[in-house]
Amino acid sequence: MPAITNHLPTAELQALDAAHHMHPFTTGADLAAKGARVITRAKGVYLTDSEGHEILDGMAGLWCVNIGYGREELAEVAARQIRELPYYNTFFQTTHVPAIALAAKIAELAPGDLNHVFFASGGSDANDTNIRMVRTYWDVKGKPGKKIIIGRKNGYHGSTVGATSLGGMSAMHAQGGLPIPDIHHINEPNWWAAGGETSPEDFGLACAQELEQAILEFGEDRVAAFIAEPVQGAGGVIIPPETYWPEIQRICDKYEILLIADEVICGFGRTGNWFGSQTMGIRPDIMTIAKGLSSGYQPIGGSVVSDEVAAVLDSVEFNHGYTYSGHPVAAAVALENLRIMEEEGVVEHVQTVAGPYLAEKWHALADHPLVGETKLIGMMGSLALSPNKEPHATFAAEAGTIGYICRERCFANNLVMRHVGDRMIISPPLVIAPEEIDILIERARKALDETYARAKDEGLL
Ligand code: PMP
Repeated sequence: MPAITNHLPTAELQALDAAHHMHPFTTGADLAAKGARVITRAKGVYLTDSEGHEILDGMAGLWCVNIGYGREELAEVAARQIRELPYYNTFFQTTHVPAIALAAKIAELAPGDLNHVFFASGGSDANDTNIRMVRTYWDVKGKPGKKIIIGRKNGYHGSTVGATSLGGMSAMHAQGGLPIPDIHHINEPNWWAAGGETSPEDFGLACAQELEQAILEFGEDRVAAFIAEPVQGAGGVIIPPETYWPEIQRICDKYEILLIADEVICGFGRTGNWFGSQTMGIRPDIMTIAKGLSSGYQPIGGSVVSDEVAAVLDSVEFNHGYTYSGHPVAAAVALENLRIMEEEGVVEHVQTVAGPYLAEKWHALADHPLVGETKLIGMMGSLALSPNKEPHATFAAEAGTIGYICRERCFANNLVMRHVGDRMIISPPLVIAPEEIDILIERARKALDETYARAKDEGLL
């Protein structure tokens, strides 16, 4: 076999990819027929593919490359750590400096008394930890009946058996016989899709009150926790009405239900604060973190736990852990990422420069004939594509057809923007500069124009 490097022709790389590599969330046969796009390098907010295209990454990878690509400091820290201590575990009463330092740094940045970190390799396995943590917490507290965890339809918490169960994606549940027992889902606060005649404020309240109804139905002595993303990401960047989170917090407090904020996307600056919980004004007992923790340079995630929850769990042996919990190289890289974010004021950049600038340009897309709602918080945004700009309207074409075309047109115009059904979503690197935002918007508008023209031609509107 020839050495497989960037220098092989694209078609050869694609053929080898199709022959041996199974892709996540992909119909393998379709991709094999088409050939995957091969990304070869990246710098700042731009990706380069094997054909030499320079593509603006409007998704920061998978919502994770918060400080942008190509930061030498992270390469140096990784190399140094591999030389010094490439691996050791944190089981059996041992520890190491990268895990100590990163846990202490996360405790410093996290709000309230979230001072304890249980490490994982990503968001899914961290959420699996959370399932076992909250159920064990109530066992130790003498309330073993509290087992039910309530999540939301169209929420996303990862792809493991546990995390898929917590999430509310029906297409995922259909594969593998999920959810596991004692997980329940309430409706998501997606006013544009489901608000009917209700005002966004009343709709937000009504959605939150579904949590109360569920608790009353099951009995509060059976409900362990509620889990949600402060702002739903993979579900389509659904920013809840302002009434939603205060009501959820009130209900969790009233019935003593642990609140798990899944900050895998929202954490580390995405919404304009270090954590989405701060932006939404909530006080979680546990936060799930991953992605932006290392800006995606290394696979690392974790559960950030309150003093109270940690004190209860610390009284027993928690029979749980991953070989790579607190992996020293991943931890060292994450720590360096956080150092850069602090020293370069990345969260302030989102708050005062990139966020407001993007907001102005993003909302201006509302004048496009194909765009209904425009939503943005910090550096995550969505456009609801619409045949007539009316809320709740749907296209003549099957749901997701227009969104898919638009995503293809974005790619053709060297922009990565994702579609969730007929919602277009962005989540660019947080360090993006105003002039790069101009390019993002220019390409997005061109893709929208081309999508509109094609949809009209093909009678899909
Ligand atoms: N939670 C949320 C909110 C996510 O968006 C994701 C990934 N998109 C996950 C959990 C799962 O994280 P991972 O893919 O690192 O397992």
